[in-house]
Amino acid sequence: MKYFYKNLSIWLIIGLIGIVLINVFKKPPDDIIHVNYTDFLKRIDQGVIPDIKMEGNVITWTNSNGESFKTVSPDNPTTVAPLLKSGVNIEVREPKKPHWFLQTFLSWVPFLLIIFLWFFFTQQGGEKGGGGKAMAFGKSRARLIDGQESKIKFKDVAGVDEAKDELVEIVDFLKDPSRFSEAGARIPKGVLLYGEPGTGKTLLAKAIAGEAGVPFFSISGSNFVEMYVGIGASRVRDLFKEGKKKAPCIIFIDEIDAVGRHRSAGGGGGNDEREQTLNQLLVEMDGFEGNEGVIIIAATNRQDILDPALLRPGRFDRQVMVPLPDVGGREQILKVHAQKIQVHSDVNWKIIAKGTPGFSGAELANMVNEAALMVARKGDGGKVTMDIIEKAKDKVMMGAERRSLIITDKEKKITACHEAGHALTAWMLPGADPVHKVTIIPRGKALGLTMQLPEEDKLSHSKSYLFNNLCILLGGRIAEELAFGDVTTGAGNDIDRVSDLARKMVCEWGMSEEIGTITFKSASPAPGYPGPLISEATAKEIDGAVKSLINSAYETTKKILSGNRKILDAMTQALLDHETIITEDIKKIVKENS
Ligand code: ADP
Ligand code: ZN
Repeated sequence: MKYFYKNLSIWLIIGLIGIVLINVFKKPPDDIIHVNYTDFLKRIDQGVIPDIKMEGNVITWTNSNGESFKTVSPDNPTTVAPLLKSGVNIEVREPKKPHWFLQTFLSWVPFLLIIFLWFFFTQQGGEKGGGGKAMAFGKSRARLIDGQESKIKFKDVAGVDEAKDELVEIVDFLKDPSRFSEAGARIPKGVLLYGEPGTGKTLLAKAIAGEAGVPFFSISGSNFVEMYVGIGASRVRDLFKEGKKKAPCIIFIDEIDAVGRHRSAGGGGGNDEREQTLNQLLVEMDGFEGNEGVIIIAATNRQDILDPALLRPGRFDRQVMVPLPDVGGREQILKVHAQKIQVHSDVNWKIIAKGTPGFSGAELANMVNEAALMVARKGDGGKVTMDIIEKAKDKVMMGAERRSLIITDKEKKITACHEAGHALTAWMLPGADPVHKVTIIPRGKALGLTMQLPEEDKLSHSKSYLFNNLCILLGGRIAEELAFGDVTTGAGNDIDRVSDLARKMVCEWGMSEEIGTITFKSASPAPGYPGPLISEATAKEIDGAVKSLINSAYETTKKILSGNRKILDAMTQALLDHETIITEDIKKIVKENS
């Protein structure tokens, strides 16, 4: 509705300005002959002018041939004296004024313009949460989209059928709240959607609004928590007030963890502002009945850190997990997004779905979009092919290529050798994920990359699989050592990851013989906990176990790489020649050099 008024006012103003311009530039009829005043008086004297019309000091007349004349007289009351004397018939008219409406309008134009501009900017600012902050002070910045306008339906959300099943009931309720309250059914007030980022939580909430045809308010938890104390709480109040006015409706709070973090946990000392906001949220949720037709849907990817108070009955007591899609789900999501683009007939979504384990819905959508963009950039009106999707996948997985980065030959050699080390280790270790692609084209922060793709979705990992990963991570550094007798900082990130993984294997997954099956998850105690949870002796043991795990991975890798030096060097050379090699190339290199 707001947009309707905005449009209307824009058209009104354009229309009015048009009228003014037409009036200003309206051409006078140009067949009037100008006569100067002296001539005019002469003609009066000659008696050739029988009658005249005076309008202000403009005098017009018509001669016997029907020609029109005009003259301008001096501003002087004596003007008429000679005319009267000569007996001319004088018709005096009131000077022509602009239409009253135009006149009023013209005097108001500046005001209208100012008001219009003010509206325009404050509204824009309010929506984007930027500029018009001063005006929107304390007002909830929830955006209202009329239910009819949220065109998203359940069919647009693919691969999360179980979550959808759990939410159908909410749609039915919103469509006809009275039916439920008559039956005495208890409907949850709040639904918490949790899962990895980009799995479609926002999309689901919008789809519920779309299916039920109710308004959808959305706000992000981080919007609540602002610099000024008290703003967050008043935002929450406003949000609920608006929501109740528009019931039945959906209030969607994204990133609820920003406000709803466990009150005792997290960053040094309490955050008063956040706590006040959270309290207000709890008060509001308790303050209305479930049958009022307002449903609060919140989304988070950190359900574990939420304050338990939020999850109590009568608040977010319904929790729905929105998982990363599996192979079938990914295929469906790809197909949903493929509808929007031109796809070549060689594209097989099933194969693409298989090659994108771990991708979220957002990443898949992103990939399809990226592919469409690549085609559009070429501008030859072509369609999206398998090849292009493969390129788009790389881009989504590793960030855009940075071909312009200048790298010295020496650096390039080291990078090639480093990546070959990762790739060869992965190739040689039985049970490791297959190597998909190796490249020394810098992407994002990395100078090179070795990509492995698991053959299927993995929900848990065996110890041998994780040990292989330690080896593969170390492969880069060890290859450098073997080839150059020196090492570089390029392996810094690998070493970070090795240490992290090894520590987790020992402390969280009970995978060290020395330590046994005990977890030390809380080796770093929660803030405020008095003293460490583990004894100094145990800490030493853990360190020892982590070290020996890494050492044994190091030895294994070194054996593999030094035993296959020829292949390592050939692979390095291939990378230097081609920059990117894929599974097939590696197969060939290994065959030719062993
Ligand atoms: P979340 O809120 O879980 O972080 P979003 O709902 O914002 O994720 O998802 C971002 C985008 O990714 C969506 O707008 C949509 O284009 C795409 N997307 C994510 N999940 C799905 C899905 N299950 N089906 C279709 N598209 C999806
Ligand atoms: Zn590396």
